[in-house]
Amino acid sequence: MKLLEDKILSDGVAVNEHILKVDSFINHQVDPELMQELGKEFASHFSGKGITKVATIESSGISPALMTALALNVPLVILKKQPSKILNQDCYQTVVTSYTKGTNYELTLSQKYISEEDHVLIIDDFLANGEAATGAVRLIRKSHATIAGIGILVEKSFEPGHDKLTQQGIEVYSLARIAKMGEGFVEFVKE
Ligand code: 5GP
Repeated sequence: MKLLEDKILSDGVAVNEHILKVDSFINHQVDPELMQELGKEFASHFSGKGITKVATIESSGISPALMTALALNVPLVILKKQPSKILNQDCYQTVVTSYTKGTNYELTLSQKYISEEDHVLIIDDFLANGEAATGAVRLIRKSHATIAGIGILVEKSFEPGHDKLTQQGIEVYSLARIAKMGEGFVEFVKE
């Protein structure tokens, strides 16, 4: 999506070949108009899939996920990063490894908010190794809901996440796909 690619080129900061900083428009300061356009794009792409809930992982995916849920007129469910100590029997839980921190965290979902009748669209900010997204899929599948697809703002196509998910038969729709990056430059996948 040209709108997002242009924003990455003007306001994103490629720190090295693996980390793109998007603090000024996605995950520290947020550009609401951009998020609304991205949400509408996901809603239009996945319309016809019978989506009943949008889900995201706290916290960077919340802004685009909320706009997608608004455009689809369905609730947003936030998968929480919580320590296992507070797990109670009404929650599903799975362990995920953080790409940026290299540490593990517990992803938690209350059984109240997703059930087997649901068709869930997962939205997240980045897709790299696919740990976060496959963790979200694992968690939602514990509720026996259907995964309707995954919408990603920035996919690092040179890392294995996209293939891991599509090999499971899940549709991944990424709005910006980075072929290569390094300090001070970003190159997108040519369509
Ligand atoms: P994965 O689990 O696919 O390896 O990584 C996805 C998660 O790691 C995303 O939810 C995002 O929070 C974080 N992440 C991965 N790559 C980047 C990056 O280049 N920049 C930022 N800001 N976050 C990233």
